[in-house]
Amino acid sequence: MPDPDEPRRSAKPQRFQAPIGTRDLLSPESERRRALVDRFAEHAALAGYRHLVTPMFEDLGVFTRLGAATDVVTKEMYDFTDKGGRRMALRPELTASVCRAFTEHNPAVLPWKVWYSGPQFRHEKPQKGRYRQFDQVGVEALGSEDPDLDTESIALAWRFFDDLGLRRVRLLVNSLGEAAERARYVEALADYLARHTDALSDAAVATLARNPLRVLDSKRPEDGYVIAGAPQLSDFLGVASVTHFERVLAGLDSLGIDAEVSPKLVRGLDYYRRTTFEFTAESLDASQNAVGGGGRYDGLVEALGGKPTAGVGFALGVDRTLLACDAEGVFGPVERTVECFVVDTTGGLTGYEITEALRRAGVATDRSWAGELTDEGLGRPRSMKAQMKAADRSGANLAVLVGPDELEVGAATIRRLRAGPDQAPSAQRRVPLSRVVSEVQTELGR
Ligand code: AMP
Repeated sequence: MPDPDEPRRSAKPQRFQAPIGTRDLLSPESERRRALVDRFAEHAALAGYRHLVTPMFEDLGVFTRLGAATDVVTKEMYDFTDKGGRRMALRPELTASVCRAFTEHNPAVLPWKVWYSGPQFRHEKPQKGRYRQFDQVGVEALGSEDPDLDTESIALAWRFFDDLGLRRVRLLVNSLGEAAERARYVEALADYLARHTDALSDAAVATLARNPLRVLDSKRPEDGYVIAGAPQLSDFLGVASVTHFERVLAGLDSLGIDAEVSPKLVRGLDYYRRTTFEFTAESLDASQNAVGGGGRYDGLVEALGGKPTAGVGFALGVDRTLLACDAEGVFGPVERTVECFVVDTTGGLTGYEITEALRRAGVATDRSWAGELTDEGLGRPRSMKAQMKAADRSGANLAVLVGPDELEVGAATIRRLRAGPDQAPSAQRRVPLSRVVSEVQTELGR
């Protein structure tokens, strides 16, 4: 197979397409996506999270602090040297940027609770549900170790999925313990896996060398047998970690949130401590069904040069959440149309003025445009028939017509293009120009 990243060579001027792993989002899909982000913003605001916008690129170091064993940093980063010779990277995720912003602004009130949305960039092998540019929404709360904050974070995502209408989202939770506990476990796990390399897939052996924890993510059956006998992380947790985790589970239970403890849930980023969680959409293919995840990252702010600060949060994948909505037939796209269409066959400015007056009054309005210019450089009005066709295609319920007859008596005709309450399609009446806006509003039930 040709390498998709290799540029094609041809003699003709090149026609460009969106880069591999990216897509143009057209209406109504683009609007549906915005509606999803708006919905998320409402949930975040209800829980006291404030909007944070950070740059789409950062100093490379902001992300390399995420850990040398983190794939999104070592293998998938869009890093580059800018014209000033600085090493930069397009953000592969947002938690590191949030921690960088926290350190930079040193907010007085803790926990600092923020939400965000926007594109992330990872040089992955694209497939359905896996892109090189994809959107996330998420929250982070910095400055408190309170396990109830972990519960709040999980509950926010859970309510959001529920509000979208998704009924087949599973919540998996685990505790990775304190840094030292996790480190001891990783050592024991690496030891165990090293003794079983004969039975592991080549891919798992390669992963073992970089990050033993990630071997637990393997979905290959041969690895499954080895993983089944691996040491359990829960056996390495100290009393404080266990108590913290139990409080999170009790909190979720009290809110009626169905959490499954998944001892092998380790997640991709190295910096997680204690609580870690993931949401999977059971309606999606198992290989790409993670719709979101998060956890505690109590050491990250410090790694970025800040004071020791606890943090917890999550990021949800917008693309996959929308795929899950498709699979469950909920939160569908809404086709938006204008409400009114202005047809003017006189070539004067009346249609133009009516259009602007309607828009100022809050009526979504469009009009038709000249196909060609006259010798004087003016738009030649299209025929009534052509303009009415455009009106019909626009999806508007009403048309306002201005022809020479109407103009002569200072009037316009309001015509129904689609049946309304008590109104047949094509019902029409003439109204004075001064009353067009108010009559249109009445027709639209305002
Ligand atoms: P992560 O930042 O890796 O924890 O990812 C959080 C969520 O972002 C995942 O659960 C996915 O829903 C989504 N996600 C991660 N990588 C991609 C990608 N390449 N394409 C689409 N969505 C992604």
